[in-house]
Amino acid sequence: MKICDAHCHLANLAEIMPLPALLEEAAERGITHFLSSALRKSDLSYYKELTDDTQNKVLYSAGIHPFFEACDLEYADLEELCQRNLIWAIGEIGLDRGNPEYAVMEDIFVRQLDLAMDYRLPVVLHIVGYQQQAFDILRSYPIKYLIHGYAGSLQAFNTFTRLDSYFTISERILKEDKHDLLKAMLKSKRFLFESDITQYYVKEGEANPLLRVKAVLEEVAELYRIDPTALISIQAANYQALTGNAL
Ligand SMILES: [Zn+2]
Repeated sequence: MKICDAHCHLANLAEIMPLPALLEEAAERGITHFLSSALRKSDLSYYKELTDDTQNKVLYSAGIHPFFEACDLEYADLEELCQRNLIWAIGEIGLDRGNPEYAVMEDIFVRQLDLAMDYRLPVVLHIVGYQQQAFDILRSYPIKYLIHGYAGSLQAFNTFTRLDSYFTISERILKEDKHDLLKAMLKSKRFLFESDITQYYVKEGEANPLLRVKAVLEEVAELYRIDPTALISIQAANYQALTGNAL
């Protein structure tokens, strides 16, 4: 049974932890596939140097994030990655209410969606606030979307399901007050699981944060008395729909 971490930042984590050993341990526990995100120029060399000699399969996306100060990728970087067929998706990109310059943020968001259209790539979305604005923009593109870490309102979730969209289940919606949203995501069958791990989120004394995605999956299985293998096979089908590859 293969598990995928559908949103993480491996290059970012690799700056402070020994990734090859952590990936090997993750593979032993069944976590074999990663959809990782590049947001800094320095992330790119990590992914370009990754070889397939591990048991892990790491695909990466790249994008200009709406609200992450260290993000220094430029549009030209993304164009080059697309031209060289190196990324599986554009992202994470989107709208974030923390960014005070809405017009600039929307402009770069739209340019990146246009780029994804040109190269027929899926888009990994980060939407915090501005849900209606995001929907109004996204609905005009026939793109597959992976809405990562969504923890907004149930109403906006229902609106986003009208797009060709998939969602990641994160720790954020395991809390009691998000159970309606979690239930709706499970019912939609359009879910994958994520850790969103970066070096900033590693807990003190945590030996291998790559194992977290399995903990999220197991917690959901326990919470709703669902057989974990059923969750894993839905995730596998969604992984294939998004990336075109089997898990
Ligand atoms: Zn992220």
